[in-house]
Amino acid sequence: MDRYKHLREWMVETQIIERGIRDKRVIEVMKKVPRHLFVPEDIIDSAYDDRALPIGYGQTISQPYIVALMTELLELKGDEKVLEIGTGSGYQAAILSELAKEVHTIERIEPLATAAKKRFENLGIQNVKVYIKDGTEGIPEEAPFDRIIITAATPDIPEPLIKQLKEEGIIVAPVGERYSQYMLKAIKRDNELERHYLIPVAFVPLIGKYGWKEE
Ligand code: SAM
Repeated sequence: MDRYKHLREWMVETQIIERGIRDKRVIEVMKKVPRHLFVPEDIIDSAYDDRALPIGYGQTISQPYIVALMTELLELKGDEKVLEIGTGSGYQAAILSELAKEVHTIERIEPLATAAKKRFENLGIQNVKVYIKDGTEGIPEEAPFDRIIITAATPDIPEPLIKQLKEEGIIVAPVGERYSQYMLKAIKRDNELERHYLIPVAFVPLIGKYGWKEE
């Protein structure tokens, strides 16, 4: 068994299953996607560590458990159209690509978006489309979405994203202060969000019209 596959199985056992992730499809895909190909080469040996890692430009690839948790909260069955805000390395989008029909992912930092695109090409991932723009405005021309995931800290769910979510659709996002938030799972019912706040988390800020201002 190759070294990274071994590390990946260990990651899934000790960080994902032991902490309560139960969705079998999520567990399988976390075992499959090569996380080490989504981190900078000089820290490749830390790829399966139990933490977020730097990917340049002051940004991070999220901790494996947080990726698994957010994915599980989306309750994907396989036929969904998903919007992700915050492509970063592309790892979360690669995970989603295995579990949904199509993924539209937005990144505001051009070199990160370009690097993620290249990774998708190299891995033969064809159902992910990358956009370079302010993700807080969503993608009106592709709406509505069955699911929306925001992988950066937001003061609240941006209004355009609520509009672009289908009725009964699910949105998952870290909501709160600039440097400390709670993971929110919300379901859209009668044009309102039914909100469930879960665990405390710490994400890098969502910078944009409906997010935080650049410092
Ligand atoms: N999902 C990523 C992954 O799997 O590597 C991790 C995302 S990282 C924690 C947050 C990302 O959100 C950063 O790459 C950051 O540049 C991006 N971001 C912040 N504000 C944004 C915005 N308004 N629109 C799009 N991307 C944004």
